[in-house]
Amino acid sequence: MNKDNQTIHDFDYSLICEYFSSTDRQGPGSEETTLRALSFIDDLDNHSTIADLGCGTGTPTITLAQHTLGKITALDLFPAFINRLNERCRAKHLEQRVNGIVGDMRNLPFDKSSLDLIWSEGAIYNIGFRRGLAEWRRFLKPNGFIAVTDATWLKQEQPAEIKDFWNEAYPEIDTLENKVSQMEAAGYTVIATFTLPSHCWIDNYYSPQRIIQQNFLKRHSDNPAAVDLVENQRREAELYLRYQHYYGYVFYIGRKC
Ligand code: SAH
Repeated sequence: MNKDNQTIHDFDYSLICEYFSSTDRQGPGSEETTLRALSFIDDLDNHSTIADLGCGTGTPTITLAQHTLGKITALDLFPAFINRLNERCRAKHLEQRVNGIVGDMRNLPFDKSSLDLIWSEGAIYNIGFRRGLAEWRRFLKPNGFIAVTDATWLKQEQPAEIKDFWNEAYPEIDTLENKVSQMEAAGYTVIATFTLPSHCWIDNYYSPQRIIQQNFLKRHSDNPAAVDLVENQRREAELYLRYQHYYGYVFYIGRKC
């Protein structure tokens, strides 16, 4: 596509890609929490097939690859993220086991009943928790596993400022009890849930962004969309610091039933 017929939307996407390609995580998480979630999943061997949906540049994917056998397909909408993921996997000699592909989690390229495990950290919100659980289920083998993180209210009541923010950003944010019921209604047995500790957000997600924001703003000082992007990320980080007791990411681990 040449620059003349590039839409504003595409340009925003390329900014978001550039911004997030320079950090190792595009969502909150940590190696410990990936491994904790993985500890609830048994039955994996070197024939297992795993999909990591909305894998970004692949930090959780790499942890998964280093602690499982079998093959992982890592899928993301953005080619720049997939290129980076494949580079990182080659550098770690994981390229035989991890295949990064560009794709859409709303239209998955897998065969029915072909996956032992579906993984998705900080990404199912792009399709929506309920729709993702319902649509992805058909790709799991009988008794196959699913492990996802999703935004969750940690208290029944929330101050208006944070409630409004989330209802605008992701109206499917809900309490843990409701999300567990939704998972059961979608045809899964819930095996475990746990909340990501705050360092997954502060040290692993927001702090690395603070480091790259200066240079990003320098490169795009004349572009209001870039300034907006940084402002939004800063506001989100500030809200997290103030309201982290009210919401978080919960890891939901389930099994197809
Ligand atoms: N799992 C990674 C990235 C989380 S950020 C991590 O934990 O670091 C969410 C990711 O979902 C982004 O990489 C974004 O590009 C991807 N994404 C957004 N919409 C998507 C879609 N429709 N299909 C596939 N990936 C999508």
